[in-house]
Amino acid sequence: MAGHIPLVEYLVLGDDPHLEASECTACGARFFDRRNACASCSGTDFRTVRVATDGEVRSFTIVSLAAPGIAVPFVAAVVDCDGTSVRGNVVGVEPTPEHVRLGMKVRLTTFPIGVDGEGTEAVGYGFTPQEAN
Ligand SMILES: [Zn+2]
Repeated sequence: MAGHIPLVEYLVLGDDPHLEASECTACGARFFDRRNACASCSGTDFRTVRVATDGEVRSFTIVSLAAPGIAVPFVAAVVDCDGTSVRGNVVGVEPTPEHVRLGMKVRLTTFPIGVDGEGTEAVGYGFTPQEAN
């Protein structure tokens, strides 16, 4: 059976896909990239925390120009997931200003990005509008 690997290391796959952040134990600031010291307080102690999968669109850009091979337009957004800012694309929606709005309720979703020669599938994440929108 072919495996799945997350496109980014902070994406956790499985039955309950979610993102993980490093949280500064001193001030609670959260980061998705590896760091040696907290950008807010210079603390050096972090713990791994689960990030909420439901969020609201805080800002977005409709991208109409991208590198070859990347389908455009798409919606690049910053989503507030219960206080944690997450960058991701909004998927499953028409990429127009009429269909994407600030404060829109979205939910984390995962989807295959591609398969390598060994049959291992790379999985990325995005946000899709919640049903009750
Ligand atoms: Zn800190």
